[in-house]
Amino acid sequence: SAARGWVPALSDDDGAARARAVLAEAFGADEPGEEVRVWAAPGRVNLIGEHTDYNAGLCLPVALPHRTYVALRPRTDSLVRLASAQAPGETWTARLEDVGPGEVAGWGSYVAGVAWALREHLVAQGADPAAVPGFDAAVDSSVPFGAGLSSSAALECAVAVALDDVAGLGLAATDAGRAVLATASVRAENEIAGAPTGGMDQSAALRAQAGHALLLDCRPGLDPVESATQVPFDLDAAGLALLVMDTRAEHRLVDGQYAQRRATCEDAARTLGIGSLRELADAVDASDDPAVALARALDALPDDVARRRVRHVVTEIGRVRAFVALLREGRPDAVGPLMNASHASLRDDYEVSSVELDVAVDAARVAGALGARMTGGGFGGSAIALVRADQVEAVADAVRAAFEREGLGAPGFLLATPSAPAERVA
Ligand code: ADP
Ligand code: MG
Repeated sequence: SAARGWVPALSDDDGAARARAVLAEAFGADEPGEEVRVWAAPGRVNLIGEHTDYNAGLCLPVALPHRTYVALRPRTDSLVRLASAQAPGETWTARLEDVGPGEVAGWGSYVAGVAWALREHLVAQGADPAAVPGFDAAVDSSVPFGAGLSSSAALECAVAVALDDVAGLGLAATDAGRAVLATASVRAENEIAGAPTGGMDQSAALRAQAGHALLLDCRPGLDPVESATQVPFDLDAAGLALLVMDTRAEHRLVDGQYAQRRATCEDAARTLGIGSLRELADAVDASDDPAVALARALDALPDDVARRRVRHVVTEIGRVRAFVALLREGRPDAVGPLMNASHASLRDDYEVSSVELDVAVDAARVAGALGARMTGGGFGGSAIALVRADQVEAVADAVRAAFEREGLGAPGFLLATPSAPAERVA
C-alpha cells in the first residue's frame, strides 16, 4: 500500500528496535546487560487556527500516531554524536560547549539545540548545567519531512524527554514541566536551528493527549499551564477519520512569505493601537454585531492587503472558538463548514495556499469529505479532510486521481488518529 502513497505509523516496538539498530551501527553495541533506552515524540497536525500563533491567537493541533524515535546513551564527556536513518551514512558531531546561536548547522542543530536550551534553563534556575550530559543518539521516524507535520518538533521533543530523563530533571512528569520542555524545544528550533516558528508544534508534541485536540492560547503573558486545554476529539467513537493529504510539493518562497505575513500583522496591530490582533479578535467576538465591529476596524487600515490579512486572522480565531464549541457539544461531525471556511480564508485573504493544496481540498470535498482545508503554514505541505471512516479509501482515491489529472506529483496519505505525546517507549 506504500506504493499508493499510504504512510503507516511505526509501532513503538519497531521504532525502538530501528533506532537502537541505527545507534549500534553508527556508534557500536551496548555494554553487555545494558539496553539503550528509547524515547519518542509525535508529529502533529493542526485542525484549525492557522497563522494565529504569532498573533497571540488560538490553534488546535492533535498529535499524530506517527512518531520520531530517539535511542540515546549518555556520555561521561560533553560530546554529542548523532546518526539518523533519515540521514544515512552521515554522523553529526559537536561538543556541547561549542553549541550556541549561529555556531552549528545541519539536522544535528535541532538535537544539540535542545541540550543547549536545557543547559540554559538550568543556568537560569541556578542549577548545574552539566546535569545535561553529552550523548550518543540515533533517530528513526515515520513522520514525513517537510510535509507541514512537524518532523522538526518531533525530533526536538523526543530529545527533550530523553535528556529530561537521563539528567533526572523530572520535567516530563507534569504538564508544567512539559511546558518547560516545549519552551526549550522552541528555543532549539528558533535560536540554534534558525527556523522562526511559533510554539504550536512543540506544545502539541509534548502536551497533546490521545483522543483529544489541544487548544492552545498563544497570548505570550499567559501561564503556560493555563494556555493549553484538552478538548475531546474521539474520531473512532464518532465513526470519523482525519485524512492527511501530503502534497509532497516543494515549499516555495516559504521563508520570505512567512516573515512578510508576520510583519503585516504586526504593522496592522500597531496602526490599530493594539498589542496583537488577538485583542481585535476578542473585541469583535464580544461585540453585539461582530461583522460590523470587524468592518469598522478594517476601515482603519491603510490598504487592501492589510485588511485581508487581518480579516483572516480575526475570523480564523473565531472559527477555532466555534470548532471547540462543537467538539465540546459532542458534534465533531459538524465542524466541516468551519474547515472549509478556514481554507477559503487562507487561500483568498491570507494567500498562503498552493495549486496542490487547493486540488487536494476540492477533490476531497467532491468525494464526500465533511470538510477539508490546508494545514500548517502553507505554500505546499499538507491538507486535511474530515471523512466518514468508511469513506477514507474513496476520498484518497479521488485525491490521487485529481493529482494525476492535473499533472501533479503523487500525494501521500496518513491517518491522523489523535495520539499520545512524547514519552519513553523502551
Ligand atoms: P517539518 O517540521 O514540517 O517536517 P522542517 O523543515 O521544520 O519541516 O523540519 C525538517 C528538518 O528537521 C529536516 O530537514 C531535518 O533537518 C530535521 N529532521 C526532522 N526529522 C529528522 C530525522 N528523523 N532525522 C534527521 N533530521 C530530521
Ligand atoms: Mg518544522
